[in-house]
Amino acid sequence: MKLVLATGNKGKVREITAMYSSFEVIPYNEIIEPFEIIEDEPDFKGNALIKARAVYKALNDEEAIVFADDSGISVEVLDGEPGVFSARYGGVEASDKDNLHKLMNTVKEKGFERSPAFYTAAIAIVCKEGEYTTHGWMYGNVIVEPRGEGGFGYDPCFIPLGLDKTLGELDDDLKSKLSHRSQALTNARPVLDLIKMMRKK
Ligand code: IMP
Repeated sequence: MKLVLATGNKGKVREITAMYSSFEVIPYNEIIEPFEIIEDEPDFKGNALIKARAVYKALNDEEAIVFADDSGISVEVLDGEPGVFSARYGGVEASDKDNLHKLMNTVKEKGFERSPAFYTAAIAIVCKEGEYTTHGWMYGNVIVEPRGEGGFGYDPCFIPLGLDKTLGELDDDLKSKLSHRSQALTNARPVLDLIKMMRKK
């Protein structure tokens, strides 16, 4: 079964492709011209649905199964920020590095060297059979100096609960087992099985 991802983010594409190796996973920008999608819902689920619906409509292919992920990090000493604003924390044009440094500097300015935090991932699946959403979370702590070159986004400042390395220092396999996205993807698996069964009828 072919899954179209409503993202061109290389880190997400890598993680989703690795977890769904039995599916053909294609980022939508390899099929159609990428376009801007305004994510203006107050929660991850709403924004994942916006992306999946927009790509499903643009593909104009009734058989398509579109997968979208919306994710971000919430930091306790920042009262849950950046949350749904994680991708734009350092401004609309901010790179992953800009966002990472803004987060670490803001925690530091508050007088902390680390803070409890968690990642959330919402997955939305849109296809002719309907619309489905799932979630996953990963708890840990953020630190104020980056460590490691692996992963993407906020990974160099995030230490998962029970470990002493940042996600930037861990290999992709281990991150895949722990991550919020992998939990949400695991929860989405039965939805795909259901769609498969419905299409066999
Ligand atoms: P989205 O593409 O709108 O879902 O934005 C997600 C934001 O959270 C981006 O800034 C990502 O870099 C960040 N983010 C989401 N998941 C992860 C992760 O697994 N590691 C590091 N950063 C992440």
